[in-house]
Amino acid sequence: MAPRFLFNEVVLQPTSLCNLDCSYCYVPHRKEDRRMQPAVTERLAASLAALPKHEHPIYLLWHCGEPLAVGPKHMKALFAPFEELRARGKIAHRLQTNGTLVDRAWCDFFIEHNVEIAVSLDGPPPANKHRLHWNGRESFEKTLRGIERLKEIGCETVLLAVVTEDRLGDAQELYDFFAKIGCVRLGINIEERVGTNLVRPMVRAARVDRFWSELHAAYRKNPVVEVRELALFDDWWRATGGAAPPPEEQITYRSNYLPTVGYDGGVVFLSTELLQCDAGKYGTFEIGNILEDTLDDLVRRAKKTPYVLDFLAGVDACKASCPYYSFCGGGFATNKFFELGTMNGTETRACVNARKRLFDTLAKERAGDMREAG
Ligand code: SF4
Repeated sequence: MAPRFLFNEVVLQPTSLCNLDCSYCYVPHRKEDRRMQPAVTERLAASLAALPKHEHPIYLLWHCGEPLAVGPKHMKALFAPFEELRARGKIAHRLQTNGTLVDRAWCDFFIEHNVEIAVSLDGPPPANKHRLHWNGRESFEKTLRGIERLKEIGCETVLLAVVTEDRLGDAQELYDFFAKIGCVRLGINIEERVGTNLVRPMVRAARVDRFWSELHAAYRKNPVVEVRELALFDDWWRATGGAAPPPEEQITYRSNYLPTVGYDGGVVFLSTELLQCDAGKYGTFEIGNILEDTLDDLVRRAKKTPYVLDFLAGVDACKASCPYYSFCGGGFATNKFFELGTMNGTETRACVNARKRLFDTLAKERAGDMREAG
């Protein structure tokens, strides 16, 4: 039987504001402080408390805009309704930040609320040139200072890097930099065309092959940074022995609807990038508002909503047609919408770069290793 609640993480947008203006950012209204009020988190906490049987903890990821732009006092008011749930192990907090605003007060806040932090940083200064303040000043030094402060309070250095077309030749340099600053886990997002980022050049797949190959070589020389994408392939290989199971034995991935609650309580499903964006033929991606509906009701409604149904049809189409499905799972909801204009499609430039080219490169290298070994 399908699980009743189809998520283990809820994304919250404490504000649309960001103090940086990254050239590839997808978030609308990021120059304005459209701020979440405690009434929204009170209703969400009540909804989460009322969920019947559910796997815990549910992670609350504070993201989408720069969360620290609201200041620790306002954030404390937003966190307050979840404190009882946190004490009972029902929820846990995660936060994605650009790191530039981390100071002593924020460090105290993170300790008090046991928040897991991930910082966005694209690499050494030349790689970080797309992450500028609104006045054009670079952000690198401030982010690095923020990372150091987080280390002082015992936070592991977990980073998320966007790789743009112009940095695809620098995988070794990127990896060495992240290793040097003590990064323990790294996620790589090859730049995608989504949300408000619709005009920059698309990343070319041919150059991505080389990037993944060089990144893998750098990791093999000095395996100190766990790279999310390389680990994904290792997990797949361990589970399958390097051969995709027959289609009838493959899982159909329908388990994570990923609700995102916007600053005003509006809720979208499937991807944070769908928040407050032009939904094209779907009209709106907002399924309801947490100020008026429970999360349980919103999930029920989502299951009957055209864009979610289209997305599930797209997953089925991926499963039926794509040899990479057992590795990929056929997600990429936002990319399907922004590249194809519909959620029920299959291949996008994003999935070619982030899954197909990654898989081909690593599978070829693994096969070479096996030949050498035996
Ligand atoms: S790689 Fe692309 S086409 Fe293949 S399953 Fe994934 S999303 Fe679908």
